[in-house]
Amino acid sequence: MKDISQLVRPNIAALQPYSTARDEYKGELGILLDANENPYDNGINRYPSTALKEQLRSRVAALKGVAPERLFLGNGSDEAIDLCYRVFCEPGRDNAVIMAPSYGMYSVCADINNVERRMVLLEPETFALPVEKMLGAADSNTKLMFICSPNNPTGNAFAVSEIERLAVAFGGILVVDEAYIDFSGKPGVLQLLEKYSNLIVLQTLSKAWGMAGLRIGLAMASPYIISIFKQVKYPYNIGTDTIALALEKLNGDIAPQVAEIVSERDRLAAELPSAGCVQKVYPSDANFLLIKVTDPRGLYNALLEQGVIVRDRSRVALCEGCLRITVGTPAENIKLEKCIYSYE
Ligand SMILES: *Cc1c(COP(=O)(O)O)cnc(C)c1O
Repeated sequence: MKDISQLVRPNIAALQPYSTARDEYKGELGILLDANENPYDNGINRYPSTALKEQLRSRVAALKGVAPERLFLGNGSDEAIDLCYRVFCEPGRDNAVIMAPSYGMYSVCADINNVERRMVLLEPETFALPVEKMLGAADSNTKLMFICSPNNPTGNAFAVSEIERLAVAFGGILVVDEAYIDFSGKPGVLQLLEKYSNLIVLQTLSKAWGMAGLRIGLAMASPYIISIFKQVKYPYNIGTDTIALALEKLNGDIAPQVAEIVSERDRLAAELPSAGCVQKVYPSDANFLLIKVTDPRGLYNALLEQGVIVRDRSRVALCEGCLRITVGTPAENIKLEKCIYSYE
């Protein structure tokens, strides 16, 4: 096991975290005169209760098959991405190795935190993980390495064995973003958590679980890393109503929706290549397809005119000519197909 405490910024390791009124008194009964709240009950006049947040943490941990002390709940995955930089990277000195093309927030958070980013391109066309190149880009100041699997926007998932090679060989923190794992037939890397103390796995309730509007992201890692995240995050980072609604929605069964989205994805992937303007549909393990077309801007605008909004990725390195299309409902997908087929 690697000694992760050596990777934490010294000021964070020495931090005396803010202690909230409800950290000191966790109960909800009694006369609460400790937090300067409005005493008149309107359902949300109290700061979020620790017990309720712990209930959500236990529920999500059970769902993911990890111990609750290995789970951090953030204000979206984006909070967890930012925390990775704030906890591990000394601004102006440390750096992060980031695979590209991928999710933009790894780069934006690096820039916000004044952390140098070292972008490593995936293999062209196959979008395979360039394991050796990523390791080669790292030096003794590389604290973070970001990979995304299944990857946004290319859609492919990487083999666990490839990701494990990075976890073994990289001396810093390996962050694996699995926002789309629920749509993938391939296994994710949660199974590696207990083996690698330098691994952080990000997931989210925003995609398959249908709660993008709630803003709840998951970071799963060693209990040590999670304890530091909890010290650095804003107090009460998830609101009472958000927690309550998430608990309610987690009782639902998303399997039928996920199955339909996956079957619609595979249907679109099989059918779209017969459209004249479609040159290639890249294989996808996610809920979107990356397609290469003859005239991306033209098709984008034609779709827009029909009220169909997709994502133009044609100016992204290795995605030249490509649009990214989220799989919708069957009716939405039929409309999409009609527009694409009729585009000359
Ligand atoms: C959509 C997405 C997320 C989700 O972010 P939230 O802040 O949890 O909504 C995370 N990572 C990737 C790669 C995504 O595409």
